[in-house]
Amino acid sequence: MKNYFSAYSCVKTIFVLVIIISFNLNAQNSPFGIVVHGGAGTILKSNMTPELEQQYSEKLTEAITAGYEILKNSGTSLDAAEKVINILEDSPLFNAGKGAVFTNAGTNELDAAIMDGKTLKAGAVGGVKHIKNPISLARMVMEQSKHVLLTGDGAETFAKENGMELVPAEYFRTERRWKQLQDAKAKEDSLKQKKGALPLNDEQKYGTVGCVALDKSGNLAAATSTGGTTNKRWGRVGDTPIIGAGTYANNSTCAVSATGTGEFFIRAVVAHDISALMEYKGMSVQQAADEVVMNKLPKINGDGGVIAIDNKGNIAMPFNTSGMYRAYIDNDGNVVVKIYKE
Ligand code: ASP
Repeated sequence: MKNYFSAYSCVKTIFVLVIIISFNLNAQNSPFGIVVHGGAGTILKSNMTPELEQQYSEKLTEAITAGYEILKNSGTSLDAAEKVINILEDSPLFNAGKGAVFTNAGTNELDAAIMDGKTLKAGAVGGVKHIKNPISLARMVMEQSKHVLLTGDGAETFAKENGMELVPAEYFRTERRWKQLQDAKAKEDSLKQKKGALPLNDEQKYGTVGCVALDKSGNLAAATSTGGTTNKRWGRVGDTPIIGAGTYANNSTCAVSATGTGEFFIRAVVAHDISALMEYKGMSVQQAADEVVMNKLPKINGDGGVIAIDNKGNIAMPFNTSGMYRAYIDNDGNVVVKIYKE
């Protein structure tokens, strides 16, 4: 009887071990992936120096590598996306966090959003002025409040109450962005004298950052962070923190992060539209993203692009501008960075 039991428990242990090992092997072989953007717009090789090109390329490589490592070590897509955005927010090169563009009033007002494709939970902030990493505050809104979108002073009070440190407004200032504001104002003045108006998509804004990721558990996440558009007024908020416009993730379809003139992305409900085309029309992520960015948006003069990844790791990165800073990891695990149209 005793022998029978020990043989039985031995078989049971082996059985459990086999299940654990095969589960781990499965998880190790599960597809995962990550794509990053650093903004779309009139990015021309003729306006670029090799040094600046290299700086962008190095920062995008650093960011995507950090995210990729998290995913490779079985971390979550939310952690990977937040980490990538934190690195880009901390870099003065991009229009997010430090280096954000200036409003007409000479302030920096930041927007960000994050979404979890597994639960369809989302968090976003709009018009915050003292948050070093707005994407982390967006995640805090998602995880520690019952709301989705908090704006302005209220969002900052929520940050303080949850132990997040605020930074002085000067932290975000860079001379390059300050000069862009002066240029935009001068252009606006001269157009006013000619009784013209600056078209919405002429405002300099390049450098919004975004990340979409799929982790080994099959969970998708999308994250986007921006300073918005140069010379913006009246508490203007773009598409970035509007769930379904600039940011969206759904495990049954894809994760999307957008960049471009936000007003058009809000009107075309870009990110959710891509997911809906996949869900209701059975399109691939490439077909759906192309349909919205290359066909639907241009019909209303919307300029910009998206990065998207589906629940199998297929990616798409269409844009209808001359360039979009973007990076992905190819099948051999190498980082690929691109800036201009192919
Ligand atoms: N979409 C951003 C906004 O309109 C700007 C950008 O992506 O360049 O706020």
